[in-house]
Amino acid sequence: MTDAPTPDIAPEDAARPPPLRPSLLDPLFAPARTLPGVGPKMAPLIEKLLGTPERAARVVDLLFHLPQGGIARRMVGSVSEAPVGEPVTLGVTVVAHRPPNPGAGRRPHRVLVEDATGDISLVFFGMPRARVEKMLPLGAHRYVTGRIDLWDGTRQMIHPSRIVDEAGLAELPAVEPIYGSTEGLTSRAISKLAAAALDRLAPLPEWQDPAWLERNRLPAFAEALRAEHRPEEAPPRSEDPLQPAPSTPARRRLAYDELLASQLALALMRARQRRKAGRVNAGDGALVRQIEAGLPFALTGAQARAVADIRGDLAAPRRMLRLLQGDVGSGKTAVALLATASAVEAGRQAALMAPTEILARQHFERLQPLAGPLRLRLMTGRDRASERKATLAALAAGEVDVLVGTHALFQEAVAFRDLGLAVVDEQHRFGVHQRLALGAKGEAVDFLVMTATPIPRTLALTFFGDMDVSTLDEKPAGRQPIRTLTLSTDRIDEVVAGLGRAMAGGERVYWICPLVDESEFIDLAAAAERFEDLQRHFGEAVGLIHGKMPGPEKDAAMARFAAGATKLLVSTTVVEVGVDVPEATIMVIEHAERFGLAQLHQLRGRVGRGSKASSCLLLYRGPLGQVARARLEMMRDTEDGFRIAEADLKLRGEGEVLGTRQSGMAAFRLARIETDGDLLEAARDDARMIVERDPGLKGPRGEALRALLYLFERDAAIRLIGAG
Ligand code: ADP
Ligand code: MG
Repeated sequence: MTDAPTPDIAPEDAARPPPLRPSLLDPLFAPARTLPGVGPKMAPLIEKLLGTPERAARVVDLLFHLPQGGIARRMVGSVSEAPVGEPVTLGVTVVAHRPPNPGAGRRPHRVLVEDATGDISLVFFGMPRARVEKMLPLGAHRYVTGRIDLWDGTRQMIHPSRIVDEAGLAELPAVEPIYGSTEGLTSRAISKLAAAALDRLAPLPEWQDPAWLERNRLPAFAEALRAEHRPEEAPPRSEDPLQPAPSTPARRRLAYDELLASQLALALMRARQRRKAGRVNAGDGALVRQIEAGLPFALTGAQARAVADIRGDLAAPRRMLRLLQGDVGSGKTAVALLATASAVEAGRQAALMAPTEILARQHFERLQPLAGPLRLRLMTGRDRASERKATLAALAAGEVDVLVGTHALFQEAVAFRDLGLAVVDEQHRFGVHQRLALGAKGEAVDFLVMTATPIPRTLALTFFGDMDVSTLDEKPAGRQPIRTLTLSTDRIDEVVAGLGRAMAGGERVYWICPLVDESEFIDLAAAAERFEDLQRHFGEAVGLIHGKMPGPEKDAAMARFAAGATKLLVSTTVVEVGVDVPEATIMVIEHAERFGLAQLHQLRGRVGRGSKASSCLLLYRGPLGQVARARLEMMRDTEDGFRIAEADLKLRGEGEVLGTRQSGMAAFRLARIETDGDLLEAARDDARMIVERDPGLKGPRGEALRALLYLFERDAAIRLIGAG
């Protein structure tokens, strides 16, 4: 085996055709549209629900699309007390039909229904009026089952999964599973499809330790899937609405399977990495000391510790994979600078990669005056062809020490003379494959990954395996606490008046506009409208920045705000990550109830960066649901990023905490870290033991474990074994 280049998965491995899938799994990887009962109308709906741009939905995708809950027959709730977000059955009378006006676009047909305690809307998209009226005749009594959602403060049930009369209720199965569905594909239709998919599920060899299964009273894999799709008793509910419902034994089993697959893949990768030597990326320390001495501040204790950790890693002849986590404003940039200095001291180059153009530019501009003799260069997707050519030439010639940039750094044409260290800022926005691509640009590249989202330990383990972690748990001296207030939007006039006074006193304000919709255009319209409105009050002092602006305009808007030419900057969430304007002291977040905790925390971190007292106004539109209220109260009560991250994890699940939704690398399909995270360490230990005993997965359990890796699509790891 050669030693260079050595990304985690060498290109020659990636190009090799995947080893044959155990034929036993073939029926599960067949297209879902081949299941009985799928016609030309249903096929595209299944794709919409479970397909991805890269591949059509498969039988296994249906099997892994577990019901979100189940509902016991005759457990009829009352309209006023039915919980939001959970499946319920309500006994109601039909009061009114509100079909969409013809030509009103994709408006739904709403049906108002009531019981003795209150009323609620049933919502139907794209369904003929006559059909809705036939299902729910005016004045009739019906039992409707579905999930209640909050939309714009009102409670509604979109596409009830069942609508039956008294006789129908008596015939319902003991427990009806409720699936996350898509428009036009009902929960019941999915239930039928799942049943057909289950029929294709042959018994598989057991990959778990039988003694462990018995001790924990867990069913076999196929049995567990059947139990989840065809529940015989209602799944457990959580007492506390803010806590997720506990897992059933079947769910635990499936969660453990998935966690073991992921930990096993990581363990195989690590085993391979360990066989490759790293290089020493530290010199005599003179350059690092020189740059540190030139900083306009003394390092905090936490920064000094992190720098020492990193120096230790770089000086050792193995590859560094270290996570530097520190709350917003904790000073990660200076640590990164000293790390790059260390690599340069050893005669190598470093790359610093940021998730957005603005941030890359900002890093570059802030690092430049601190960098002493280091030769920095910026590269973004926006560079002119001639600039780009010059940069590439300088890079290859070794005339650039540290290349700062965006995704542009991954591009094939970018070749370093000798890349030794890659620093990746705000890692969770990047996919793992991107990290690999950057690693492929040098020999034994050391990695420093920086994140401002404090990651609870369980999650760090899942996601990064045994990555080493340095934490900046100390803020630079002289920071003032941020005063956080929650206010109803009804009081927006008072807020505007208050801002007027503050701006007259020289303060600078961020105004973040709400996330209205998935569509950026709608976001944009909201921001533009607020901008005009605030301009009427404050004229030229108001600026606007949003994601759709061309890059140079964005920079200009940011620069005007940083220089104080504008004093109030209306923004969509583009300022979210890392932007540093120490003079900004007020953060207004409109419709704060629509943001997640982590995002609110990030946004708030844009103020409180200087020595002046700062405040954050969270404007909400009521009435607030329980979770939204809990989030805003949490924000008001603490600035501790770790507490916020833990709470966020409980409230929303792991995909959102890591922001993996956007980057399309949701960690798990079946395991829920909130409820099954306790299994992680066991899975890790199990995986390590497996790799120690049978590194090629060749024994009988090894065979079964290969099937497990395939099933959860961690089969890239199998290629690593092959490549030994
Ligand atoms: P983040 O961790 O959010 O990336 P930054 O590195 O942007 O934080 O640092 C935030 C601000 O704090 C910057 O203006 C930086 O110059 C300043 N800073 C960093 N370290 C210190 C320190 N030890 N003492 C005082 N100010 C510091
Ligand atoms: Mg930063």
